[in-house]
Amino acid sequence: MISESLLDKALGAYLGFACGDALGATVEFMSSKQIQRRYGVHCDIIGGGWLALEPGQVTDDTQMSLALGQAIIDHKGLNLKAVADNFVAWLESDPPDIGNTCKRGLERYRKTGELSGPPREDDAGNGACMRNLPVVLATIKRPDYFIEWSLLQSRITHNHPLSDAATLALGRMTGQLLNGQTVDACYRTAENLISEYPEFAYRPYSGKSSAYIVDTVQTVLYYFFNTDDFESCLTTTVNQGGDADTTGALAGMLAGARYGVQNIPKRWLDRLEAKVSAAIYTQTNELIDIAQFL
Ligand code: MN
Ligand code: MN
Repeated sequence: MISESLLDKALGAYLGFACGDALGATVEFMSSKQIQRRYGVHCDIIGGGWLALEPGQVTDDTQMSLALGQAIIDHKGLNLKAVADNFVAWLESDPPDIGNTCKRGLERYRKTGELSGPPREDDAGNGACMRNLPVVLATIKRPDYFIEWSLLQSRITHNHPLSDAATLALGRMTGQLLNGQTVDACYRTAENLISEYPEFAYRPYSGKSSAYIVDTVQTVLYYFFNTDDFESCLTTTVNQGGDADTTGALAGMLAGARYGVQNIPKRWLDRLEAKVSAAIYTQTNELIDIAQFL
């Protein structure tokens, strides 16, 4: 039996992720000062930004997550080739944006069929971490599969220890919240990450919020641990600017798992592109179902 509270948090995580993407995309690559001058506080899903999005439109963060989630659902588990094929189909669908490392990895796969690339210094972007939520949902009862699948799906495009560590830490924190643990458990997970890789330390906060995984994680952790409701967590995160759709999405994932879908502002949920919310509802239910028999 799937509990109401698990479903509330899982939907919160996935819809919260998409809200953060849609909200943050407007101010992606702006500085916090530029955002302040232009919007005061940016707190509504209004589209625009460098991608000239429709209000409620999401970007690669949510689209790649949905591509990964669909492959897991179609194969009732991780079929890595199906994941890579879904990513390539998405790449070929002329998406609004795509990160350089993701693009390079998918082009390698398309050319050679290799499901993993060699380690690279410049693979420490946030592109693997940002799309891992479907793995978290499908493996909430299987920590062993969580690690294995997270690293395998990452490796299609990213091969860097900092990307791996961040993907596992943020996924683990999300899983802890979904499993009913409190934010204290997340705090310990974050501390463990920092004791292994001190570059992730987020206090004092550097103010850097780029797509470099270290900057992304610092921003997400800082605002997640220093706010106490969904809306303020997302708003403060995206108003930091930089890779705001991705920091927003990851903050939305954690905050949604912490506070539940009930606490996502209705004006944001109502604004999300209808076919994206519908796909998220369906995937969340199906991924949680898979988690029950894995
Ligand atoms: Mn994006
Ligand atoms: Mn981004």
